[in-house]
Amino acid sequence: MQALRNLPKIDKFITHDAFRDLSPALVTQIAQEQIETLRRKILAKELETFTEEALVESVFDAYHTLLSPSLKPLINATGVILHTNMGRSLIDPRILDNAAKVICSYSNLEYDQEAGCRGERYAHVSTHLTALLGVEDVLVVNNNASAVFLVLNTFAKGREAVVSRGELVEIGGSFRIPEVMSQSGALLHEVGATNKTKASDYAHAINSNTAMLMKVHRSNFTIEGFSEETPYREIKALAARHGLIDYYDLGSGYIPELPYNLSTVELPIAKVLEDDPALISFSGDKLFGSVQAGIIAGKKELIDQLKQNQLLRMLRVDKITLSILEESIKAYLEQRYELIPTLRLLFTDISVLRERAETMRQAIGSAQCDVIETMTFMGGGTLPNREFPTIALHLHGKATRLERTFRKHDIIGRIEKDAFLIDLRALEPQHDARIIETSREVCI
Ligand SMILES: *Cc1c(COP(=O)(O)O)cnc(C)c1O
Repeated sequence: MQALRNLPKIDKFITHDAFRDLSPALVTQIAQEQIETLRRKILAKELETFTEEALVESVFDAYHTLLSPSLKPLINATGVILHTNMGRSLIDPRILDNAAKVICSYSNLEYDQEAGCRGERYAHVSTHLTALLGVEDVLVVNNNASAVFLVLNTFAKGREAVVSRGELVEIGGSFRIPEVMSQSGALLHEVGATNKTKASDYAHAINSNTAMLMKVHRSNFTIEGFSEETPYREIKALAARHGLIDYYDLGSGYIPELPYNLSTVELPIAKVLEDDPALISFSGDKLFGSVQAGIIAGKKELIDQLKQNQLLRMLRVDKITLSILEESIKAYLEQRYELIPTLRLLFTDISVLRERAETMRQAIGSAQCDVIETMTFMGGGTLPNREFPTIALHLHGKATRLERTFRKHDIIGRIEKDAFLIDLRALEPQHDARIIETSREVCI
């Protein structure tokens, strides 16, 4: 068993020159594991010899693999602004810089400075949010899924929530309204048909165990043709007449009117609030363009009851979320939409995109690519089936090969009709140079 005797002593092994700039503790841990593996293999006669150099190299590689970042930036050239797989909304660095002052310091998160005693963490954003939305009160939780869960659990546990059959949606990532309902303890009372639900359907469903009339936005699909949905104000009126709570899960929620007539399919929050819903909820990182959060807004009396629910502790948001959200809301109050990247990208004029694409085309070479006008989607469970215009760079060559190669360079493009496209809609101008550089490398 010569090989066994040749296994290095750990103390000496870690002093090897190759490990000079590395953490001794981590080198020791990795080396111990690898030496132990070698020992086992030698004893099992799976291995007869090894070299110390190979072991050094293997430990060195394992060290760097372990420390290489898993979460890393990518360039989104798919044209989909709210790309769920790529992190949904972007946060503007200026928003983050301001928030960092609070995040990196002690703060008044739960401290009432005037009274010198414990304060409420939810008080911070609520001042700004109620001013922005014009509602009585708000509550912020971990995400909109939590918001739906908390609302149902608080008001409809063991009781019935009435929902249209056309709205029993599944959002990506296995969020299904019927399942969320049953988990929350609420009893789902489905009404209407898939394509049609009338006010009378809701009215007939109401019984002594009904707690709530709920509307869910069809975030990722549309129903076309012979269809009818009940206007929210009729649902609201019905709930009021029977002393029930009405709740509208908007999915996404946004502030200013959107371009390309997009606001006709999905209403801005202000329009939804014209019907005076008792409660609404929406995501912080869909069209609202801020951090992951669930924003619940509506009647103070109901928000107070939500705050009494013990579950809130499990769904509560951290100071990181609160401070970023507060900065985004302040940007909205001043209508500084340039600080909301989701809106900035959506509102970028097609002529600006075309000019950037032309510059890129010239830098890459006209034989390698051309500029096309095409259509894209918002994504992220918003504005379903609504296309709007965009500009893309069509790179010549086999689309699947180009897609793969660019992906290896951290640039995610899209294939449309067998053509590989770099779509400029969700591409920030500071990344144009990377696109040029990579295209020159790849497309020769
Ligand atoms: C997206 C969405 C949710 C879930 O929101 P998250 O913020 O992703 O948790 C719930 N309901 C609807 C209708 C949605 O579109």
